[in-house]
Amino acid sequence: MTESLAQSLTCIDCGATHALGYRLACEKCSGLLELRYDLGRLARTGPTVLSGTGLWRYAAVLPIADPAHRVSLGEGGTPLLDCPRLARELGVRTLLIKYDGPNPTGTVKDRSSATGVGAALQFGYRATSVVSSGNAGSSIAAYSARAGLRSLIFAYERASAPKLLHMAATTSDLVIYQGVYDDLIGHWDRLADAGLFFDCGASRNAYKHEGKKTIAYEIAEQTSWSPPDVVVAPVAVGETFIATARGFREMREAGWIPRVPTMVAAQAARANAIVRAFRAGTSITPLKIGYTVAEGLAAGDPGRKGDWVLRLLREQAGLAGEAEDDEIVAAQRRLARTEGIWGGPTGVATLAVLERLLRDRALDPDQTICVVVSETGLKTEAEPPSRAGVAFDEASLRTLVEERLGR
Ligand SMILES: *Cc1c(COP(=O)(O)O)cnc(C)c1O
Ligand SMILES: [Zn+2]
Repeated sequence: MTESLAQSLTCIDCGATHALGYRLACEKCSGLLELRYDLGRLARTGPTVLSGTGLWRYAAVLPIADPAHRVSLGEGGTPLLDCPRLARELGVRTLLIKYDGPNPTGTVKDRSSATGVGAALQFGYRATSVVSSGNAGSSIAAYSARAGLRSLIFAYERASAPKLLHMAATTSDLVIYQGVYDDLIGHWDRLADAGLFFDCGASRNAYKHEGKKTIAYEIAEQTSWSPPDVVVAPVAVGETFIATARGFREMREAGWIPRVPTMVAAQAARANAIVRAFRAGTSITPLKIGYTVAEGLAAGDPGRKGDWVLRLLREQAGLAGEAEDDEIVAAQRRLARTEGIWGGPTGVATLAVLERLLRDRALDPDQTICVVVSETGLKTEAEPPSRAGVAFDEASLRTLVEERLGR
């Protein structure tokens, strides 16, 4: 069994180092904490330290020490798909889609649920909780059930029917809340501070955050340790973006890869607090937001993780972009028709953002560009096409087939 090389929790603001343990903030300055690993060991072993398949293949760089706490439903190990037809349509040299739809509950959230719920076991909690637009809720519910823990899931009232069904089926307690994520999260955070449940939210728990780092490790390994020039990642609160960026940095520092990709932060135009601040060169002003088809990106106030995303974008010469709902829906169809990948609107917002950046000439198309498509389309609620059926005899069937397929 692979040993975890996690060593400490370090404050991203003041640099103070804390022993490993369940802590949601720096004791000195209350800044966010991030996990640090023995990169010297990683440099010496190289990728031989990896073993097995799926997310826990990367257990050395994840913070769950005891293999008995490494809860799994078969997450990770998702495909990196070379998409030449789509690349041609967009005028990009090489386009890779990191497709996270095949995860157990259909989204990237399963990566952070595996380490988040694993940490709940590690620190002896009996119940988890999360405030969710739908994806985090169904994922935390599923992983908590798998680990034998209770889960108290607060779900967005406008979550899609498939997501609500999924949450209701898997959680021990489902509560629908009024308004958007931002309306509830402040109160909920205080209860997490009081230790009433294990914090499985996206804003503060370093252990949960960490699972999403495996996106970077998988992309690097799938490209034979020669990662793409650009990676476009979705941003709601910023967990996925920050974790992916740091995965690449760790591998760079350990000498596993020659350079880190340029990271692009993708937001929905209706929830674009980080993109606005990046463009204006200012700090983030929280937004009052309404509905966006990219339900999983609907956070108007990304909090301190949002500040962290902005800092990384500025320090590491990243890019940020946004897309309108109609552009996201168009990208969803385009991806399905050109490559057969049916991603949900939240997942495909990244592709819509890439299309915009290319149109605006903000990105050089003569590169290898990887787009993270973070969810399946099968959890989306939408009007189905017409159900009006046709009755055929053989002759009319033949006529139709010849008409449609040509002869
Ligand atoms: C939650 C979510 C994201 C991104 O959220 P972060 O909090 O920024 O990590 C992206 N895609 C999907 C499908 C999601 O559910
Ligand atoms: Zn600090």
